[in-house]
Amino acid sequence: MAVYTPPLRDMQFVMHELLNVTADLQAMPAHADMDADTINAVLEEGGKFAAEVLLPLNISGDAEGCQIDITTHAVTTPTGYKAAYKQYIDSGWAALACDPAFGGQGLPLVVNQCFYEMMNSANQAWTMYPGLTHGAYAALHTHGTPEQKATYLHKMTSGEWTGTMCLTEPHCGTDLGLMRTKAEPQGDGTYKLTGNKIFISAGEHDLADNIIHLVLARLPDAPPGIKGVSLFIVPKFMVNADGSLGARNGIYCGGLEHKMGIKSNATAQIVLDGAVGTLVGQPNKGMQGMFVMMNAARLGVGNQSLGLTEVAFQNALAYAKDRIQMRALTGPKAKDKPADPIIVHPDVRKMLLTAKAYAEGGRALLCFSAMLLEKEHNHPDEAVRKESGELLALLTPICKAFLTDNGHISTNACMQVFGGHGFIKEWGMEQFVRDNRINMIYEGTNTIQSLDLLGRKVLSNNGATLKKFGKLVGALVAEEGVNEKMAEFITPIAILGEQMTKFTSEIGFKGFQNPDEVGAAAVDYLRVAGHLVFGYFWARMAQVALKQIAAGNPDPFYVAKLQTARFYFAKLFPETATAMRTARAGSKVLMDTDAALA
Ligand SMILES: Cc1cc2nc3c(=O)[nH]c(=O)nc-3n(C[C@H](O)[C@H](O)[C@H](O)COP(=O)(O)OP(=O)(O)OC[C@H]3O[C@@H](n4cnc5c(N)ncnc54)[C@H](O)[C@@H]3O)c2cc1C
Repeated sequence: MAVYTPPLRDMQFVMHELLNVTADLQAMPAHADMDADTINAVLEEGGKFAAEVLLPLNISGDAEGCQIDITTHAVTTPTGYKAAYKQYIDSGWAALACDPAFGGQGLPLVVNQCFYEMMNSANQAWTMYPGLTHGAYAALHTHGTPEQKATYLHKMTSGEWTGTMCLTEPHCGTDLGLMRTKAEPQGDGTYKLTGNKIFISAGEHDLADNIIHLVLARLPDAPPGIKGVSLFIVPKFMVNADGSLGARNGIYCGGLEHKMGIKSNATAQIVLDGAVGTLVGQPNKGMQGMFVMMNAARLGVGNQSLGLTEVAFQNALAYAKDRIQMRALTGPKAKDKPADPIIVHPDVRKMLLTAKAYAEGGRALLCFSAMLLEKEHNHPDEAVRKESGELLALLTPICKAFLTDNGHISTNACMQVFGGHGFIKEWGMEQFVRDNRINMIYEGTNTIQSLDLLGRKVLSNNGATLKKFGKLVGALVAEEGVNEKMAEFITPIAILGEQMTKFTSEIGFKGFQNPDEVGAAAVDYLRVAGHLVFGYFWARMAQVALKQIAAGNPDPFYVAKLQTARFYFAKLFPETATAMRTARAGSKVLMDTDAALA
């Protein structure tokens, strides 16, 4: 079985030494009393739940999967899942970062973010059941009527009811404008929904008393395309005026998908057979509400891959210290043994450090992003709220696509450390690879994320938001530009920061003449932008570590941080040169290929 130790020390480093989150939190009335001890204590307990309750269910849940009784449409989750969920809600974990007005504990989002990272490490598929609820909660909290909020949010906060997001249909995934599910007004403020949704995560299960589906559908007079899509709440069980559960609604699971990974999360085909729903927000403006959910989910998906990268790294590291094969090229290291542990081999170290650097860089970025989300919603200064929202919009596709691609690279590298033992099931490594694979696909494929970054977030405003991030890089360069000890970290981001402006305008100019140029460059562009962001955080982490070492702090944690920063800049960051070159290679080599693809 895989092992997992919650990375509490690194979380504390990111929150308290790198980002100084308590000062930022205390500036917001909602968190005026927050302190580091409270945050650390909550995460220590959260780590125990992940490691002691969820981890032991990960491999067995994968093997057992979910079962459907096709006559009753009931779905049963694997052995132990229901008890773990009960423990989760009984301990109050569901309510951690929810609004106290609806029974939540009101803790900062960054705490929930770290808690979810640990649950994802322990068991991504289980974690998706409560995870989807958070997105549905956020959409209703922002766009629901007072009555809808009163009806649903308390039970979703407590975790007694879970949520889903129902967008995808058999003929439409990326292109939601093709949607066919219909919503007919009933004249009493409700609608009857008819249609078929597929691939709905946590769409049916036995963990909670009710499931609150957030469903996209078209009204009879809706304009064609995405501008004619509206958002509805469709509960599995109707809710009576006193809050008790009423009749079974006409929404049910028609089948479960058999799939490559996250096997213990029910991926449901959902049939809407005259199901009763209520409208959320304005008619034909459904994407506004759904985007609240999708943006939360995109950060959540990046967090899924962060969790898997971390747990894969921990297991590969332990194995590499234990497994003996061959001698070090420089001569025997473990002279008392017939061979050296494989950690002596340079390439094994490279694989391990790749995962470590991507995990720790990802943690810094996601905690920073969680703080931006917090400021966007809760900061008293409107200018800060606006600025935070804009920066978060820029970083969201990077959090989703860069972290999940890095998760793919990292889980594969860690599996490789195990040799053939990684490919067989016994050690749990192949499951991390399989589970991570969906993260690159759902919530908008990584290609779509890269088009969102380059097309919508960067080129549409002539790089204005990108320049906001550039300012952060510029400030760090100005602060540390003359510090020789920081040169190896500052010089690469200073150079890339300068190159980025020209690189972006070059693609923008070519894209103006031929839109395929943007499509051809976008994925490479996101890799470059992702490294600029990671480079910035790695330089800042190196800065903190160097200061601690200079002050005589003997904690080896800081030496480890510095070594990982050096590895990142030497071995991973240079990918930017290749990605810029391939982006510049343009669209012709892709589009003038009809014979090759005939
Ligand atoms: C396990 C699982 C869980 C899921 N959970 C949910 C859920 O809870 N709720 C939900 O609504 N959906 C869910 N989905 C659906 C998921 O979000 C979609 O699969 C995804 O958005 C892609 O849609 P698609 O599969 O139809 O692929 P398509 O849209 O058909 O795309 C196929 C390929 O074409 C590419 N492509 C499409 N358009 C463009 C373009 N304009 N430019 C460049 N490339 C393009 C895509 O990137 C992709 O590589 C889930 C899917 C799976 C497999």
